[in-house]
Amino acid sequence: MRTTSRYRAVARMIVAIGVVSLVAACSGNGGATGGGDTGGYPDQNITFVVPFSAGGPTDTVTRMIAEPMGAKLGAQIVVQNVEGAGGTVGAGEVARAEPDGYTVLMHHIGMSTAPALYQDLGFKPLEDFEMIGLVTEVPMTVVARKDFEPATLQDLVTYVKANADKVTLANAGIGAASHLCGLLFQTAAGVKLQEVPYEGTGPALTDLVGGQVDFMCDQTTNTSGQISAGEVKAYAVTTPERVKSLPDVPTAAEAGLPQLEVSVWHGLYVPKGTPQDVVQKLTEALKVALADQKVIDQMAKLGTAPVPAGDATPQVHRAKLEEQLGTWSKVIADAGVKAS
Ligand code: ASP
Repeated sequence: MRTTSRYRAVARMIVAIGVVSLVAACSGNGGATGGGDTGGYPDQNITFVVPFSAGGPTDTVTRMIAEPMGAKLGAQIVVQNVEGAGGTVGAGEVARAEPDGYTVLMHHIGMSTAPALYQDLGFKPLEDFEMIGLVTEVPMTVVARKDFEPATLQDLVTYVKANADKVTLANAGIGAASHLCGLLFQTAAGVKLQEVPYEGTGPALTDLVGGQVDFMCDQTTNTSGQISAGEVKAYAVTTPERVKSLPDVPTAAEAGLPQLEVSVWHGLYVPKGTPQDVVQKLTEALKVALADQKVIDQMAKLGTAPVPAGDATPQVHRAKLEEQLGTWSKVIADAGVKAS
């Protein structure tokens, strides 16, 4: 079985660099500035840090918006995967980066769960970042290897209860969306399973398709293709409504587990202290990317959509994070989960 070591304290950093946009630096804003003058921003490549593996859902959404954002900014955007510890390694790296707008973090709901889970997180979500704006809110799916015995979500509950010692549940590390959804599932089912952590659900899904793990929760942005192709078995979506692109997959509530409701909101961050005009340029570029028909179409195919334009702002993003930090700290405290 290809897995990462469980809950590693110092996560290995694997960097996969992909150039997603090669746009001539033609913004016409003048040359390099420095010394606090950001009028020329951007005048070099911008790095978008994804705190999970390449090929997974966070990576997929990042690459979708990086191209139109780079075009709007007149800069090349490079995607860098800085994995480990449920997304906290990459987030910490961006928190400590130069606040100059050249290092941007894409993170998801995990930003709001990390403080309750990790004792020595090394960054404070509300204090160490400037928010750029929300990006998308993605439904999750409960999926299994295609030859896994249970046929429905109810069957799955019965089966895992009877076989708790041998069933394996994959996730992308403590605090990852897959971990949270798995936690909700186990709480609802009243069972404790053997969890298999990866550094992203890209590799976890590969192992699921290969039959090395039994089941997991993951965003539709990663699972849609395999569900449609019949490469995995889909039990439910975790949103109140069915997902248009997966019309045959029932909601968890329809399938008898209404407690299993979670969707994965994503947002862009830069380090605290990044000049406001730079934040504003990034927000404007994000809005342009989210209005791009190609992005809308790509997201729709994968079961999601850009947030409404009004939510792609620092204010709405900050308010969302504040609200979610409160919600998840309670869920996590009630569940008694800790990262180490
Ligand atoms: N879907 C993952 C999670 O569980 C993250 C990823 O690989 O993008 O949070």
